[in-house]
Amino acid sequence: MSAAPLPPGSTIGMLGDGQLGRMTALAAARLGYRCHVFGPEPDSPAAQVTNRSTLSSYGDREALARFAEAVELVTYEFENIPLETAAFLAERVPVRPGPAALAVCQDRLAEKEFGAAQGSDLAPYRAAPTAAALEPALDAIGTPAVLKSTRMGYDGKAQAMIAAPADAAAALARIGARPAVLEGFVAYDFELSVIAARGLDGKTVCYPPVENRHRDHILAETIVPAPLPPAAAAGAEAIARRLAEALDLVGLLAVEMFHTADGRLLVNELAPRPHNSGHWTQDACATDQFEQFVRAICGLPLGSVERLGDAAMSNLIGDEAERWPEILAEPGARLHLYGKAEARPGRKMGHVTRLTPRRDG
Ligand code: AMP
Repeated sequence: MSAAPLPPGSTIGMLGDGQLGRMTALAAARLGYRCHVFGPEPDSPAAQVTNRSTLSSYGDREALARFAEAVELVTYEFENIPLETAAFLAERVPVRPGPAALAVCQDRLAEKEFGAAQGSDLAPYRAAPTAAALEPALDAIGTPAVLKSTRMGYDGKAQAMIAAPADAAAALARIGARPAVLEGFVAYDFELSVIAARGLDGKTVCYPPVENRHRDHILAETIVPAPLPPAAAAGAEAIARRLAEALDLVGLLAVEMFHTADGRLLVNELAPRPHNSGHWTQDACATDQFEQFVRAICGLPLGSVERLGDAAMSNLIGDEAERWPEILAEPGARLHLYGKAEARPGRKMGHVTRLTPRRDG
């Protein structure tokens, strides 16, 4: 893979057509790039903001081959695109982050084994690839525990709580009786994330750790910065940096962690792409995560991650987006809507970021 930068005017191929693709395409346009969106949804959030898109499933090789011809670089906005799709494209055009990093991040067990090999602190876990393997895994981990399918969840079937051993069969049924990982339940005091950006030259920068608050397993709010003393914040950044380097990742790596009452940071999940917990950077950072992503994958110098203020980012989920008139009337509130026609419950329709002066000066 050449280390030469991809110059403005080039076309970036984007697998995935949701809001992360949309906001990446907008940032790419600001730097003079074109984006060609490849995804399955008509009139998608990403396709709405570019004049080049392919409406297709990820398995259509003819469509993928034509897509590879039409772009100079391929990236993706979510990690559940099939690995074969990324590998097929990587034979034709640079894919960043590369398929090897994608393989780790789309499988919870691979992710945990990778994290453990890198010396990250993790919740205790055991593989539960079959129903028969669940009992010994429960013996080892104890309860309460969380059973998570190793691969992409659907219809909220990706994870289930096991409060007592008698719940095991029901939990396995709830996640669709698929290969899984059993994790010890962590009584964390808050959740946080760090987004690392790593360039083609290996240079890595990190956005500061932020606190994430969830409702119904969906990110509701991100508080910037996370309530961590400086040494702990530096420790969280070091974890993200180490993982991005060990994956040899070019692009962004979001690392979700649990902070425990005794001050430990347990790595929970990795995402090799822009992340919902980084949306605040659009309004409160010298370089936002989407531009940083474009810079990294195109081989450009990374931008400053200086934080210009404190911030709170709230997702607008389902009919919460109907509050747009009052949000627009609120001085200083920064509204972002994703162009989705139908506000289904649980669907991320937009977000709003509110800034306040930095408390740490
Ligand atoms: P995940 O899909 O792994 O990001 O998990 C979704 C949410 O479930 C997390 O943000 C936590 O709130 C919760 N959760 C996941 N794993 C655990 C765990 N081992 N202990 C406690 N809560 C968890």
